Amino acid sequence: MLRWAEVNLDRLFKNYREVEKLSKGKGIFAVVKANAYGHGSVEVARFLQSRTNVSGFAVATYGEGAELLLAGIERPILVMSSTVEEGKDFLKEPSLIPVVYDFKELSLVKELNVPFHVKVDTGMGRLGFLKEEWGELLSQLKGSKVKGVMTHFCCAEERREITEKQLDEFKSFVRELQKLVPEPLVVHAENSAALSLKLNSVLTHCRVGLALYGSRPTPSYPAELEQVMEVKAKVLTVKELPPGYSISYSATYTTKGRERIAVIAFGYADGYPRELSNRGKVLIEGKECPVRGRVCMDMLITSVPEEVKKGSVATLFGKGLTFEEVARECRTIPYELMCRISQRVERVYR
Ligand code: PLP
Repeated sequence: MLRWAEVNLDRLFKNYREVEKLSKGKGIFAVVKANAYGHGSVEVARFLQSRTNVSGFAVATYGEGAELLLAGIERPILVMSSTVEEGKDFLKEPSLIPVVYDFKELSLVKELNVPFHVKVDTGMGRLGFLKEEWGELLSQLKGSKVKGVMTHFCCAEERREITEKQLDEFKSFVRELQKLVPEPLVVHAENSAALSLKLNSVLTHCRVGLALYGSRPTPSYPAELEQVMEVKAKVLTVKELPPGYSISYSATYTTKGRERIAVIAFGYADGYPRELSNRGKVLIEGKECPVRGRVCMDMLITSVPEEVKKGSVATLFGKGLTFEEVARECRTIPYELMCRISQRVERVYR
């Protein structure tokens, strides 16, 4: 194997326990959309189902949900951002629960007569019924199979006052909806970041992704998390270039003196950010090795010390080089880097 991602399920378990502490008895929906942020949704969901009392899972599409069903996942699966039209063949499955966010979706789930959660927009400006629609929504929800209600926070990482304002609006909607429904509703809003705000609320459940995978939404996040995935690749070859020799496309780096370089079997098609050309670093034999020249589709090149040999293992993301650190370096978020690790990179579970 030349490129692989080690997914450490013990760390996932420990992170889950940390999330449990923060969630203070609320149910947890593990967010496993986008292939569990690149970690493998089937393996992650199977593991959490067998080892924890996770309440269920959250995915984006019916395809993602169907994959979990086929893999033997029995707990509820929320489908958060699809359409009933896309899901109509799957919605006979009682554990796939659509999230309804506009009147068209609502009329379709009512026709199908399936249980659902409803989403209200309290400030995210994305999916969900706007406040001005809530009166009409409540009248249409009367007698329906609504089982849960959710909203999503836009700024839980950085702006407590905005999150509290969103929560207040959400609570006012939940209060009205609960009056129409005989059984207690499943009520959820918090993601990883919001859990650290310890909001005083009506929430019964949370929806957590990032923290489970071991990245902190903020540097002061109050949980001991360990990155679950370590991404590695082998050195294809090592050679010494003469002075004044250029490396990779567009010749953006030229050696000053003789320079020992390694060609590593990992490129932007595998999920290494091309913007780290001439800026990134990887770890080989415990040493930091700077990326030289442009990152290519299938390979990247680094300067290396004497002890690095053909076949040495380079860590692209892992201990000492976390998704959080690399994300800061290329002005993105750990989520994006995790999701970018492509299918070609074999996942190995430990
Ligand atoms: N809920 C919704 C609607 C989301 O889109 C996401 C993630 O993108 C989450 C919950 C989980 O967020 P996090 O990974 O920050 O815990």
